[in-house]
Amino acid sequence: MEIVLTEETPYRFRIEEREAMRVPGVVFASRELLPQAAGDKALEQVANVATLPGVVRASYAMPDVHWGYGFPIGGVAATDIDEGGVVSPGGVGFDISCGVRLLAAGLTRAELDPGGFQRLMDILGRTVPRGMGRGGLWELPGPDAMDDLLVGGARYAVEHGHGVPRDLERCEDSGALEGAAPGEVSRRAVERGLGQVGSLGSGNHFLEVQAVDHLYDPDAAAAFGLRPDQVCVMIHCGSRGLGHQVCTDHVKVMDRALHRYGIHLPDRQLACAPVDSAPGRNYLGAMAAAANYGRANRQLLSEAARRAFTTALGTGLDLVYDISHNMAKVETHEVDGRPRRLCVHRKGATRALPPGDPDLPEDLAGAGQPVLVPGTMGTASYVMTGLPGNDAFRSACHGAGRVMSRHQALRTVRGERLRADLESKGVAVRPSSWRGLAEETPEAYKDVDVVADVTEGAGLARLVARLVPLGVVKG
Ligand code: 5GP
Ligand code: MN
Ligand code: MN
Repeated sequence: MEIVLTEETPYRFRIEEREAMRVPGVVFASRELLPQAAGDKALEQVANVATLPGVVRASYAMPDVHWGYGFPIGGVAATDIDEGGVVSPGGVGFDISCGVRLLAAGLTRAELDPGGFQRLMDILGRTVPRGMGRGGLWELPGPDAMDDLLVGGARYAVEHGHGVPRDLERCEDSGALEGAAPGEVSRRAVERGLGQVGSLGSGNHFLEVQAVDHLYDPDAAAAFGLRPDQVCVMIHCGSRGLGHQVCTDHVKVMDRALHRYGIHLPDRQLACAPVDSAPGRNYLGAMAAAANYGRANRQLLSEAARRAFTTALGTGLDLVYDISHNMAKVETHEVDGRPRRLCVHRKGATRALPPGDPDLPEDLAGAGQPVLVPGTMGTASYVMTGLPGNDAFRSACHGAGRVMSRHQALRTVRGERLRADLESKGVAVRPSSWRGLAEETPEAYKDVDVVADVTEGAGLARLVARLVPLGVVKG
């Protein structure tokens, strides 16, 4: 399908409804960001998503949009559960509940002595499990403990001594998504997950030591627990082999069941089933379980970071926020003048609650929900906050967004060279493989400064703080 865009506002483009589309597409971008999205077929995917049964309002693309499996990464779409709306595993992604968590340290960059910082990076490099293989920080005793973790998420980890109760106040859904159904998680998925609780995974995942470089809104920053020059830790990882297997298993089931529900799709990767059907319910239960695995995973990694900070620098880390950017959630939103029960898919997009939202903890009610936007290991990352009037079901971008495939990135730079470049710019690098590092070269991503500005210009979220990298432990 040829994609025709019309400019609605400087940061908002529209793909008119046609052929099988049930709603228009809306692309939040600038003229500068658009061609990058168009070049990799992401916009065609935005139009494809607009054909899903029950989809309401529009199929949205965030400013960091790029090509993905079925749905684009940076895609947001909601379906009306009571009108046959579907859930699609491709609208969540293979790394279910992949997400970002930010922690703030009890010291500033100025107070960080070089020896202490090197010790910190060495400990993190040694103790944070990463790479493709097995091995995590928390070896679960067996499948029964796994069932409890799949229901309890970060809460289960904290109950077992991995963290403090306050952490849970700063987690989306208090650390555990409701409705988890461990019985819908295959034995194979559990086997893959058993040895990986507390591990980063591969190259795009990371644990990064950062410093607050600029505050756009000191009041909101203070509410989040961020002050000028403060040292922080950003952790990006997901649900490892368990989440991947859940997606694989349920895509297969839904693909086979399409005809039963009379669903016709422009792309098989959009395999889906009505939310209110056995395959739909089973997937959402398994997805919630995998989401909770992802949250427990980030909780364990936070504890490893805390131990490293205590040993190397004698200081602690407070959780700023933990947010998933690959998830489908049942939420109520007003569409066409009436509240409706929707299944909101956010794939490579985060929820962005505005100030006053009842789902926020009390101490964030005035500032809104922290929206965490990693950039790259060689550029800034941002903390933003939700805005009222966000019609994309209160969603925002999740990063800079790739512009180069991993393969293309490998042709531009060698890992050894990239590490030397980054170190010369003052970023300590602890890679897990040279190849993995090169695939993640900052050049492979859009300009995060532009993405953050466009996100604000489009009214999706507002800038609060800019962070810069000091050292990165790469998956
Ligand atoms: P994804 O979940 O789509 O794999 O990645 C989310 C975002 O993380 C990417 O769009 C990219 O902007 C960002 N990112 C990837 N690697 C790094 C890194 O090493 N450091 C930081 N700060 N951000 C990264
Ligand atoms: Mn991921
Ligand atoms: Mn991710």
